[in-house]
Amino acid sequence: MTTYTAPLKDFQFLINEFLPVGEYSDVEGFAEAMELATPLLDEAAKFTQEVLHPLNQVGDVEGLKYNPEDHSVTTPEGFKEAYRHYAEGGWSTITWPTEYGGQGLPEFLNMPMLEMVCSANLAFGLTPGLTHGAISALLLHANEELKQTYLPKMISGEWTGVMCLTEPQAGTDLGLVRTKATPNDDGSYAIEGGKIWISAGEHDMADNIIHLILARLPDAPEGTKGISLFVAPKFMVNDDGSLGERNQFHCGGLDHKMGIHASPTCVMNYDGAKAWLVGEPHKGLRAMFTMMNAARLYVGVQGLGIAEAAWQNALTYAEERLQGRALTGPKLKDKPADPITVHPDVRRMLWTMKAVTEGMRAMTMMTAFEMDLSHRHPDKARRQLADDFVQIMTPVVKSYQTDMGFELASTCMQVYGGNGFIEEYGIAQLMRDIRISMIYEGTNGVQAMDLVGRKLPAHMGRYLRSVCHPIDAFIAEEGQNHAMVEFTKPLEKYFGYLQKSSLWLAQNGLSNPNQAGAGAVEYQRLFALVMLGFIWAKQAKIALEKRDENPEFYDSKLATARFYFARILPQTAALILSITNGCETVMADGLEGVRG
Ligand SMILES: Cc1cc2nc3c(=O)[nH]c(=O)nc-3n(C[C@H](O)[C@H](O)[C@H](O)COP(=O)(O)OP(=O)(O)OC[C@H]3O[C@@H](n4cnc5c(N)ncnc54)[C@H](O)[C@@H]3O)c2cc1C
Repeated sequence: MTTYTAPLKDFQFLINEFLPVGEYSDVEGFAEAMELATPLLDEAAKFTQEVLHPLNQVGDVEGLKYNPEDHSVTTPEGFKEAYRHYAEGGWSTITWPTEYGGQGLPEFLNMPMLEMVCSANLAFGLTPGLTHGAISALLLHANEELKQTYLPKMISGEWTGVMCLTEPQAGTDLGLVRTKATPNDDGSYAIEGGKIWISAGEHDMADNIIHLILARLPDAPEGTKGISLFVAPKFMVNDDGSLGERNQFHCGGLDHKMGIHASPTCVMNYDGAKAWLVGEPHKGLRAMFTMMNAARLYVGVQGLGIAEAAWQNALTYAEERLQGRALTGPKLKDKPADPITVHPDVRRMLWTMKAVTEGMRAMTMMTAFEMDLSHRHPDKARRQLADDFVQIMTPVVKSYQTDMGFELASTCMQVYGGNGFIEEYGIAQLMRDIRISMIYEGTNGVQAMDLVGRKLPAHMGRYLRSVCHPIDAFIAEEGQNHAMVEFTKPLEKYFGYLQKSSLWLAQNGLSNPNQAGAGAVEYQRLFALVMLGFIWAKQAKIALEKRDENPEFYDSKLATARFYFARILPQTAALILSITNGCETVMADGLEGVRG
């Protein structure tokens, strides 16, 4: 079984020193967030360590039970109780508006909580995560009556929410959705059709489940322009807020999956389910996309959470496992062998895990912080700049962090050797659980297309400038600082790769879109690596200034930054070559070339 200790020191460092929260103390909710940060994070750590983490392996082994007679789904032992704790603890309320029962606190304070949940028990975290997405959709697009009906109980955690998009023939391409919505006489709609892979579509943890469903109206045009968004509760809600009769839909079965065994992935059948239109007719996909930044950022946090769990367990294991001797001679002469941490390859793996995980945490917090500014800053221009940053960073955070969640879980398995492959150690579960995050909420390939095809060209490169200007300014300013030259010089070089590859894609993608499509995933990785370079340089600057205050913490930050710059950031050199080598070999000879 794995262990888990919340990385509170790093959260505190990021909130108090890395993010410029102090510069924005007049932004609504920020001062309050700073006051609440310590007690909130401490309590979240306790809850995730003591309640959620002990259930992680139980959920994986026991899994879910589907009863075909009443179409019910029973979650593993302890999950219902844990969910009750989660709701009663107010953990679902942190960021939502006070008018619907939320605490109105910023996202940057919520992210550490989300990360802790994902590290401790990813399968559990999916249900509140999906509810978060459904709340955002209703908040942004529903009329006031629907908001009043659903939001207070979803925000309090009494009810959960789900997102019902996928159908067998409509995965990435939601223009192929066939589920129908026919108007009823009373202003509601009747939904007919089937959805697949609906996370938390049915379960026993909450009193009601609110389904957000993509469907077509009778007069809908073909494709993506004919999709509308509907809300349908599992139990009807009476005027006084009490629950009425069961709606006409049910779970037709559960899918057996590689991982997240405690998260119900449901086939859903809608047999004339009563539903209400959310937003305008035929604008359902647009409505979904406007809430996707937060949802995608949250999936990125899943990768981060698993990376943290992997890193912690790999380190503990490596310090205890005795095998072989250090290349330079025995370290523990009185023991039969040295700990495997003496071997350069094991050290390389451990440093990689630490550098990437802490870098991703800072990248998540930075993006969440800008998301808060994009909603809360009083100045319109600052809100716009923040939104530009969030727009371009969202696919990068989602894809890089989920890729690395899986990769670092695999690295952790490598540190464990054969024991990593044995289920009882819990590392195999980390790998199995996180793999899906590279696929759902838009596959990582589709994120890359979003980055290159939509976000780069948007407003003549304005989104990209929101990332490039701060890096440029940092290099210009810190380039004068002798102590920082070891970071600013290489950052300038690798940032140059980002600029060159952006230009190459823009120029070549225009005449041949396959050029952009073929290099998109490599570009997305390059983008993330350069961003982490910037982030590590910023952390190094703080560490250099403050090392006397807490040498153990800051020297570790500095050493990690140096490792990142020496061993990981240079990977960008290979990526720019792949990108600029173009699509010719990728698209050569049609499929025959691939088949050989
Ligand atoms: C465990 C689990 C939970 C899920 N939860 C939910 C949920 O709660 N609600 C929900 O609605 N759905 C859910 N899904 C569905 C999930 O969102 C889809 O699996 C995902 O959107 C990808 O669709 P697909 O599987 O049909 O793959 P496809 O769309 O068939 O894609 C196959 C491959 O082709 C690539 N590809 C496809 N189109 C393009 C393109 N235009 N450009 C470049 N590459 C492309 C993809 O990147 C991928 O590599 C879940 C799935 C699973 C397995």
